[in-house]
Amino acid sequence: MTATRSLLPNFVGGQWVAAATSESLEVRNPATGEILGHTPLSAGPDVAAAVAAARRAFPEWRATPAVERARVLFRLKALLDQHKDELARSLTLEHGKTVTESKGEIQRGIENVEHACGIPMLMMGDTLEDIASSIDCETIRQPLGVFAVITPYNFPVMIPLWFWPYAVATGNTVVLKPSEQDPVTHQKVVELATEAGLPAGVLNVVHGGSEAVLAILEHPDVKGVSFVGSSETARLVYAKAGESGKRVQALGGAKNHIIVLPDADLDATTDAVISSIFGSAGQRCLAGSIIVGVDKAYQPIRERLLRGASSVEIGYGLDEGVDMGPVISRRHRERVVRYINEGERDGATVLLDGRRVVVERYPEGNWVGPTVMENVTPEMSVGREEIFGPVGCLARVDSLADAIDLVHRNQYGNAVSLFTTSGKAAREFRYSADISMIGINIGVVAPMAFFPFGGSRGSFYGDLKAQGRDAIEFYTDQRVVISRW
Ligand code: NAD
Repeated sequence: MTATRSLLPNFVGGQWVAAATSESLEVRNPATGEILGHTPLSAGPDVAAAVAAARRAFPEWRATPAVERARVLFRLKALLDQHKDELARSLTLEHGKTVTESKGEIQRGIENVEHACGIPMLMMGDTLEDIASSIDCETIRQPLGVFAVITPYNFPVMIPLWFWPYAVATGNTVVLKPSEQDPVTHQKVVELATEAGLPAGVLNVVHGGSEAVLAILEHPDVKGVSFVGSSETARLVYAKAGESGKRVQALGGAKNHIIVLPDADLDATTDAVISSIFGSAGQRCLAGSIIVGVDKAYQPIRERLLRGASSVEIGYGLDEGVDMGPVISRRHRERVVRYINEGERDGATVLLDGRRVVVERYPEGNWVGPTVMENVTPEMSVGREEIFGPVGCLARVDSLADAIDLVHRNQYGNAVSLFTTSGKAAREFRYSADISMIGINIGVVAPMAFFPFGGSRGSFYGDLKAQGRDAIEFYTDQRVVISRW
């Protein structure tokens, strides 16, 4: 490759080491096209070395008192706070989101570290005396060993932090396989974790793509896998990890609906709808995709959405006054444009067209402007599949029941929102929508660290979700001890 080539090292047993592979991928700034580094496409031997290092580190880390493990995380939290601006800048460089969005992402990651600091309390077991005469029973939570964490490109700092702080807090050791598209900033988080005192081998990083993932899934010493990505990959990971009896939680893709009732507060609704569709250029598993106007709500929300979308300022995320950055890659830009083309071909109307948008100062950027489409039906690919770009699709129905029906016709079940001033409608919605993350007058349904994060139906494969109490359950085994003396 070129002289600018800088190959990211893997992190194995506390050392930054070169991957044993000659293949790599470019990491480019999605706004300027500048090459930021190269991701090695690690394979079996690199994965084996990382798993072996994690396995070696496990006995001593497991025996480290929970309060000491927590202290490492307290120090990491302080270091992340201290380096937040620098991390946010780096995140914008490699992902493209605005620097305000990058700060928001890092903050959400830090909140998971904070939550994991409570491990001495979170990990406690239960005791009951005299379950029978003079017999007592207690449960103890124990770590399992080596966990793998495999993450997507859209939140490359936060999503790894949904998992590995809990895995190490509970006494496990970890092999992290970040997205090959933007792995640079999390590398700095790993450096900070080392500075915070995380011992060698407790957290290891293997860079790469599907080959590294397959090697992880096939490795007998990996006890469990936390995965986030598209549903197609989530299904593969769930099936393959399950085959060998590993624990697995696999969070997949999404197609989120936002339902607007005629009694909604339209100003507040419009602001929430705009940020839900166009935040992070639509590359969020919680992005609003289909805006369902119920009866008389349709026309006013259509007009306001169009007006709001037209004023979204697109550009380089480090520049002032920019609301929305580029999408991650040229290939992804083509995918988003293809969906808009297909929608138009299938009979939808493009009311606002972002396909040919140019940002003059940055001709190499992967730009897609805010796009709004009307008359979108569930049969169209644009109404059925995840676009993962800044595209809002409008649909009109007659009642809340029809809107819920529309939501249920989609394969995904990540998030859904309702905008209304009626408590009765909100209650009916909460009761009957078969979707895991529900927003009522909230457009981006993002549970905080102490609540579970994850969808249902085609958006989630597994039982225990990310964050919250589920994280502690996922990374520990409950031992039951029954004693008579
Ligand atoms: P992706 O599925 O392409 O990649 C995710 C991870 O899987 C990466 O680490 C990648 O290297 C690996 N991978 C990709 N293809 C693979 C294959 N064939 N075999 C084995 N491993 C493979 O996802 P992405 O494009 O990086 O991320 C976007 C997707 O993630 C969207 O679908 C989005 O909805 C989803 N996502 C979901 C959530 C959630 O909470 N449910 C959160 C964020 C992102």
